[in-house]
Amino acid sequence: MALIVHKYGGTSMGSTERIRNVAKRVAKWARAGHQMVVVPSAMSGETNRLLGLAKELAPAKPAEAYHRELDMLAATGEQASSALLAIALQSEGVQSVSYAGWQVPIRTNNAYTKARIESIDDDRVRADLQSGKVVIVTGFQGVDEDDNITTLGRGGSDTSAVAVAAALKAQECLIYTDVDGVYTTDPRVVPEARRLQTVSFEEMLEMASMGSKVLQIRSVEFAGKYKVPLRVLSSFTPWDIDLDEEAKSGTLITFEEDEQMEQAIVSGIAFNRDEAKISVLGVPDKPGIAYQILGAVADANIEVDVIIQNVSKDGRTDFSFTVHRNDYAKTIDLLKEKVLPGLGVQEVVGDAKICKVSIVGIGMRSHVGVASKMFRCLSEEGINIQMISTSEIKTSVVLDEKYMELAVRALHRVFDLDQPAAA
Ligand code: ASP
Ligand code: MG
Repeated sequence: MALIVHKYGGTSMGSTERIRNVAKRVAKWARAGHQMVVVPSAMSGETNRLLGLAKELAPAKPAEAYHRELDMLAATGEQASSALLAIALQSEGVQSVSYAGWQVPIRTNNAYTKARIESIDDDRVRADLQSGKVVIVTGFQGVDEDDNITTLGRGGSDTSAVAVAAALKAQECLIYTDVDGVYTTDPRVVPEARRLQTVSFEEMLEMASMGSKVLQIRSVEFAGKYKVPLRVLSSFTPWDIDLDEEAKSGTLITFEEDEQMEQAIVSGIAFNRDEAKISVLGVPDKPGIAYQILGAVADANIEVDVIIQNVSKDGRTDFSFTVHRNDYAKTIDLLKEKVLPGLGVQEVVGDAKICKVSIVGIGMRSHVGVASKMFRCLSEEGINIQMISTSEIKTSVVLDEKYMELAVRALHRVFDLDQPAAA
């Protein structure tokens, strides 16, 4: 018997029929003797529907007063799905109670639409668990110190679930979703992609941050910080499958390096088209230049990813970096208006048609030659690499967008990810 947290995504909660299936599954776990806390998302499409209504009345505005109301509004989606799940559980003969974030309370800061959880009071939930109830806590939301309702950003229910699991020191947090685990890469691009039985939390973080959209990245950070064992698994298996089988399915995100000898060096290939490249040409090569360029970008709250500075020639150099595509035009304007005049430089060029492809694996820490194998593979495919960045467990390359799928498939093959891992 253990304290277990289940999280169900919007698709799993998408209709009353599906909610009934969730209830039957949760009831199975409760009847097996586990103390159950369930964190649901809103029914699929509901958050978009609500935010769409707001947009009909007023276009998106930066004003805090507007964002406050967006949170007030969007939080109702999870309130509805949570109450429906409690009703479904009760009709299965299981005692159940649902709470909105503010009732727990889940305290957050006051950054509307992207609030961060600061603390969770577990008294109420624990008391209910003690009395034998299944407790449902709304995902995606909390309350700030002035009792304003806040939300945690799109996909935030994952983070709610992990935070609740951390606060209750749950044995495991199971994220039920519409995919059956974490894959070596996106199966829509590489049909041979395989499900990973385990992936380390560091690898998951790299893959999530690079566009493997299985989990909200903040939930992975949270799980890492509080050492919450996290499992991603399918909510589309029949609810009455054997509990032990279900408990072992999906992908477990682990904290210790797997001590297996035959551990794969590269665990997965991540990719995205979310970035754009910007180059400032002919920059005087002297101290403070990187700060002048990137400091101004950072001050405008624009996140920079890959950075390259070339060797200088005649005291001048080229400086390139990538930003999110949404920030592309804004960054170019900012450089032209605020930065270039001070540097005596005229030329800034950019390219939004790029992609980033990364190989990820904790095995890269202890193996040499992994990056060069990647570069050889790309060269054999005739793909030009524009930028490279590395970390201990990842090598990323920036390429022309049109080569993205070709590169991902070739790398998946070269690193033997098509083959089942040695047991
Ligand atoms: N319902 C919210 C969203 O769609 C939160 C979530 O589902 O995790 O973003
Ligand atoms: Mg989600």
